[in-house]
Amino acid sequence: MKVFKFGGASVKDAFGVKNLAHVLKTIGHKDTLVVVSAMGKTTNVLEQIISEYFNNKHQTPSSLLPLKEFHIKIIKELFNHEKSSLIRLINEFFEELYVFFKNNKSPNYSFVYDQVVCFGELLSTTIINDYLNHLGFTSFWLDARECIKTDDYYRAANLDWEQTQNLIKEKTKKKSLIVSQGFIGSNSDNFSTTLGREGSDYSAAIFAYALNAESVTIWKDVPGVLNGDPRVFKDTQLLNQISYREAIELAFYGASVIHPKTLQPLQRKEIPLFVKSFENPTAAGTKVSKGKALEPHIPCYIVKKNQVLLCLSSIDFSFIVEENISYIFNLLHEYQMSVELIQNSAISFSVCVNNKYNRLEELVLVLRSRFNVEVTAEVDLYTIRHLDEKANKFIKKTKKNILLEQRAQETVQFVVS
Ligand code: ADP
Ligand code: ASP
Ligand code: MG
Repeated sequence: MKVFKFGGASVKDAFGVKNLAHVLKTIGHKDTLVVVSAMGKTTNVLEQIISEYFNNKHQTPSSLLPLKEFHIKIIKELFNHEKSSLIRLINEFFEELYVFFKNNKSPNYSFVYDQVVCFGELLSTTIINDYLNHLGFTSFWLDARECIKTDDYYRAANLDWEQTQNLIKEKTKKKSLIVSQGFIGSNSDNFSTTLGREGSDYSAAIFAYALNAESVTIWKDVPGVLNGDPRVFKDTQLLNQISYREAIELAFYGASVIHPKTLQPLQRKEIPLFVKSFENPTAAGTKVSKGKALEPHIPCYIVKKNQVLLCLSSIDFSFIVEENISYIFNLLHEYQMSVELIQNSAISFSVCVNNKYNRLEELVLVLRSRFNVEVTAEVDLYTIRHLDEKANKFIKKTKKNILLEQRAQETVQFVVS
């Protein structure tokens, strides 16, 4: 089997869906499992719908209707007419959502989030699968919730590998072309769960692992993995080959072209990962596999925007040592801050965090009971790997705004205001 993954950007409109079919025709689609994300910005829209629901004391959100119209418009453009059987399916999904909002009694935000947000992927794959069959492919729609089994840590669920592997094998048996959803799964009570934002790459790796796939290809709006995000850096270059280890490092530091969780399952079975352009499917793209760390060996630039720099110092001039540090880390874990960079001295401790779950204020309040806390919001964290002269020049140019800098062998990281 081969596993393909198409992200939200690749299927943001009818043209994108047609292009997906074109990629399958061009590359071949025998024994292929296609993992697809929600169309365009659908997940963000669903997130807004959920906050509307919570802000308006659990009233059914009015913005469900424009989302339904967005999907129906795509169907009309794909089929050049109203395809009533498919529109009926879409209506049924929205009906399910309305019923959920009407009956829900749970005040648990994360639980509600997962029950709602999974519909983005259910809608996109239903449309795409139907369109592929309409074109003459024999494609089978698989509800990923029937095989991706997780715990109930809603919004960032952890996989039950054993069960998931067995179910994937069972549900895909004797099927040549399968369309399924990225990002979503279900727990032992069969409630929907999700694997974390941008988690569809990870889903592709999970399917590939279970199926002992020969490869995974993630189709992107870029030619492959570049040595920097082209939206941020000028003159970026394509990386032809990257080792698993290098790819994990790049993804972990924030190269958002690959979700960091994707690499580990693939590396375990040495399944190669290709990152290719959906606009130019026959081009080589990037291959992530065992082998050379990086080819060509050039500096890689990564930036994580909108981070928070916390500078803590002791109130009474006492040292910040193991006990304080472990207290601080426990709090960071409790308030779900992901730690991006740390630096400590005798009486101070600086940490750059990602305030993903908006819990910074609560955290700072607790920290202030024991430390002086300085908060600098909206900082950018740069990471450069494999430094050379040019990269050093880039750092010098940025120097005046650098709040914190750290160098290890081949990696430099700095926080910029
Ligand atoms: P998907 O549609 O699969 O969710 P994403 O938008 O998450 O795709 O990922 C593709 C984007 O990742 C590109 O448009 C690019 O701006 C960004 N990106 C960040 N870092 C890199 C990099 N090192 N190489 C290529 N693209 C990168
Ligand atoms: N649709 C989800 C998101 O936007 C998952 C993904 O696209 O990977 O985060
Ligand atoms: Mg994405």
